[in-house]
Amino acid sequence: MAEEEGSGLQVLLSTLQGSSDKAAILTILQLLGDLLSVGTDRRIHYMISKGGSEALLQTLVDTARTTSPDYDILLPLFRLLAKVGLRDKKFGQKALELEALDVTLILARKNLSHSHKLLHCLWALRVFASSVTTGAMLGINGAMELLFKVITPYTRKRTRTIRTATEVLAVLLKSRSNSRRAVNRGYVISLLRLHQDWHSHDTANTYVLIRRGLLLCLKRITTLSSGREAFLAAQGMESLFSIIQNCLDNESMEPVISAVLQILRQCYPKSPLPLVTTCSAYAFLGTESIHSEPCCAAAEEDFEDDGDEEMDKDSDLEDVKEQDDDLETDVEKLTFKPGLDRPEEELKQYEAMCLELSYGFEELQSKLRNDLNFEDVQSANHHHIPTAAPLQQHRLNEDQSSRRKEGEHTVQTSLLSMVKMGRSTAHLSSKKRLDVNTYQNVSPSGTGVDTLGSDISGIQDFLEEDIEVISCPGMNASFSSSVRPRETVGVIDKLLHARPKHIPFHDPYLYMAKARRTRSVVDFKMVAFPDLWGHHPPPFSQSMLERKRGIQRIKISEDVRRLIQPRDVINRVVFSLDEPWPLQDPASNCLRFFSKFESGNLRKAIQVREFEYDLLINADVNSAQHQQWFYFKVSGMRAAIPYRFNIINCEKPNSQFNYGMQLTLYSVKEALLGRSTWTRTGHDICYYKNHYRQSAAATGGASGKCYYTLTFTVTFPHSEDVCYLAYHYPYTYTALMTHLEILEKSINPKKIYFRQETLCQTLGGNPCPLVTITAMPESNSTDDLEQFRHRPYQVITARAHPGESNASWVMKGTLEFLISNDPVARLLRESFIFKIIPMLNPDGVINGNHRCSLRGEDLNRQWLAPKAHLQPTIYHAKGLLQYLSSIGRGPVVFCDFHGHSQKKNVFIYGCSIKETLWQANCAVGTSAVLEDISYRTLPKILDKLAPAFTMSSCSFLVEKSRASTARVVVWREMGVSRSYTMESSYCGCNQGPYKGLQFGTSELEEMGAMFCLGLLILELKSGNCSHRLLARAAALLNAEEDALNHHLQRCNRSNTSDLDDEPACMEEIDYNSEGNSDQDGSIAELDRQIQECAFSQDEGEEEDGTGQGRNTIL
Ligand SMILES: [Zn+2]
Repeated sequence: MAEEEGSGLQVLLSTLQGSSDKAAILTILQLLGDLLSVGTDRRIHYMISKGGSEALLQTLVDTARTTSPDYDILLPLFRLLAKVGLRDKKFGQKALELEALDVTLILARKNLSHSHKLLHCLWALRVFASSVTTGAMLGINGAMELLFKVITPYTRKRTRTIRTATEVLAVLLKSRSNSRRAVNRGYVISLLRLHQDWHSHDTANTYVLIRRGLLLCLKRITTLSSGREAFLAAQGMESLFSIIQNCLDNESMEPVISAVLQILRQCYPKSPLPLVTTCSAYAFLGTESIHSEPCCAAAEEDFEDDGDEEMDKDSDLEDVKEQDDDLETDVEKLTFKPGLDRPEEELKQYEAMCLELSYGFEELQSKLRNDLNFEDVQSANHHHIPTAAPLQQHRLNEDQSSRRKEGEHTVQTSLLSMVKMGRSTAHLSSKKRLDVNTYQNVSPSGTGVDTLGSDISGIQDFLEEDIEVISCPGMNASFSSSVRPRETVGVIDKLLHARPKHIPFHDPYLYMAKARRTRSVVDFKMVAFPDLWGHHPPPFSQSMLERKRGIQRIKISEDVRRLIQPRDVINRVVFSLDEPWPLQDPASNCLRFFSKFESGNLRKAIQVREFEYDLLINADVNSAQHQQWFYFKVSGMRAAIPYRFNIINCEKPNSQFNYGMQLTLYSVKEALLGRSTWTRTGHDICYYKNHYRQSAAATGGASGKCYYTLTFTVTFPHSEDVCYLAYHYPYTYTALMTHLEILEKSINPKKIYFRQETLCQTLGGNPCPLVTITAMPESNSTDDLEQFRHRPYQVITARAHPGESNASWVMKGTLEFLISNDPVARLLRESFIFKIIPMLNPDGVINGNHRCSLRGEDLNRQWLAPKAHLQPTIYHAKGLLQYLSSIGRGPVVFCDFHGHSQKKNVFIYGCSIKETLWQANCAVGTSAVLEDISYRTLPKILDKLAPAFTMSSCSFLVEKSRASTARVVVWREMGVSRSYTMESSYCGCNQGPYKGLQFGTSELEEMGAMFCLGLLILELKSGNCSHRLLARAAALLNAEEDALNHHLQRCNRSNTSDLDDEPACMEEIDYNSEGNSDQDGSIAELDRQIQECAFSQDEGEEEDGTGQGRNTIL
């Protein structure tokens, strides 16, 4: 703002306040009006800062208090007041102090029949009322009664004034005292009747905004419990519900429908979850439970969520919480803090886990000579790069226990050829996107030939068998790998025998054997069929689900219908971990559910209507929360019927299910037909807050926690099938143990040093595996052993959070790549020693937890001071890292793989002091802080290599709330500057070659392999890599120049689009009135009204044909 303009404005304002000359005042008002109608809001804010509001208000009071108020001055003055007042947060308070409320109310009363003048008064009242305290004062002074004189039943006259009056009333009702007054005076019934009257007469939807105004008033009043009672007593639910029937998709009714739904949801009686207790159905008694999470029985009680105290608060006083509050600003806590959290002697135990540093390899030389050609014959078996294409490649390793002839293996493209293009380069046709449900195009009758071309006629016979028996075999099944060929005892046995062996790195016999050794809290006796039989990545990527317009309101309307039209509501428990349930008539159409198997966690299923079920997920063991992950079996379905499922005890306020993500489904019949695949499935998916609340008692008196519903509709591919549904592609602990054994068996021990050992036992009694991978030394000569032992370490961990199965699929890709015959993998093994802990929380995974350990603790918040007897896996993972540090062998990179439920793509969180301090505006003295910026190199490399990865979602800020995560502790206590968390979306990508696609397991595995390639390139760029490695890598990379250089040489890719934030959901997800969503855009809207009216004032009153107002001036 220019100086002159500023001082000019001040002169105008002081002249205005001191003047009693009409011409002078009019001139100034004209000037101010012109000045403020152009340019940005900055001018208005400047004027406010110079006392503009006070000057205008004083002029109003002075003018209004004259014996015959001059409307030539008052009307332009009101327009200016409204304009300025909307932007002045303290306007209401100023108006109160200058006594502008009373004069405005008096003017409004005088002009009740003169709608043009009245309208101007209403605008002023509206901006006064935007301060809740001032609104309450207006209420005391009779503003609501005044407005009810303006708001009439249906008319085509004065509609602009009526509409504004409804809006002013809605703003006044933000004050609880006003709302209470409204309830006491019976305004709820009046408003409902007025709305009904307008609704039934306004058939052309001309006055939708008046109806919306009335509804906003009701919405405000019903935030009070007394308001809701009055609303329910007045049959408000029924009345509003019937109004929106048959017009849910009418766009012109949009403002009405959204307000009605908000009210219906707000007034739907709150109730506790239909559970005996919110505490997990599974309890672990092995160690004292520290968690004092209240596990109260969910009792019927008052779900009051508003107090009776006067709680009027000015919204402008509730300053927006500083966004970066959580950033660590204590430089002390951001700097390297070496030190041990345990006695130094304790570190000695980890020497045994680093045998590679001491082992002599005496056996090496002689054996190598005898077996020179071994490598070439064998290693083709392990050349596995996770990609779905061409599919035949997956038939490598068909059966790892019996090695196959070299000639049968097609050698696939190197990882380098897939850089940044992903699977698309290898298999362009896979770009084809599948719609909604992959199964919809599949004929229910099998062809006898599976998608891989294998003959599966042998197993099709089993479709005639009792599929329930097959679908969830008991662990005591007779077969074992030693007797399998001849035994004919169980149907499972025969089935497995007939099974085409085409899934790489999977063996059902081994899986079953491992499953028997997996220890669960409640001793699972069954194995889920998909885990036993195996998953084959689908040949096509699946695109994200397009959200159907209005789907959320349709679903919510169906939910409300349960209350209002309960005729078809069944409400019958059909499955529960807590209680017995009545046996269903087998002839009924009722679905059957089951979840007592590894990683399964359905707690209860309630049939709500014929084809609709409410489901509840079990809380994490020894906890009453963290419901997000789900995995269960469902059977007894009929094909071609859309079944609606509602998971009603979700906890997160939003979900990728609102942004294109689908759940996963595995059909046993499809598997028997040769398509053993988890596919994304479900339509009409949305996620919203429901009417269930945790009782206040259970939260220690605080207002009850809200729950959310994930609703989806599944049309199953076959009748009488058995299907498994899951939040994401399951990956069990048993799957990991099976996988590791197969990996170990399949490597060439002459070339690859692969050691699997037990890091520690978990609380639940399961071994937590630690894997070491590197290349064998070329000989046991001193030089070779020296090179071998001095390879830098890389440490990778995953699955601290059990619900993040995506992290395991990335880890699977990492492991398979590292032992593969890909030239990059060979270089990596020769350059590094990999220490990998693929599952930091086996117990959580086994017992179907989403977030926690058996003690109900988030293990990724335990790294600061883990205890051996409480968090053994974290204690020993940290111990191992401390040991490596203590001998000067801290890792080049530490990375912990996770899954992310709110964002798309794959990205990394790292740690930077400078970025954190800058972001927190604590840059003072940061120039003295020395920081190596190499922590950014790896993510930058991955951004260029990996199709799913994006730098734009990476962050290097250190938050206080993350002080006890692996990433921060390894960075700060062990001085590992490249200490990361790598997050993979549960959903998919919104950038790069996979844009618009959901992740399949192949893309996740590919990410794991690309991560390894990133480590190699990081080493090449580091400058301290050996000439030998550089030369070999250069030769390799040059050979793949087309594929790689092109991408590596590209300078910073432009990442202009901000991928961090989801686009706004088409529908409001939250429905409580905490937000002021209905006020959004009101500034622009009121501006428009004022502008419009200012220009039309000479035309007389809009639609006020009688001129009634003018006959009764003053
Ligand atoms: Zn996580």
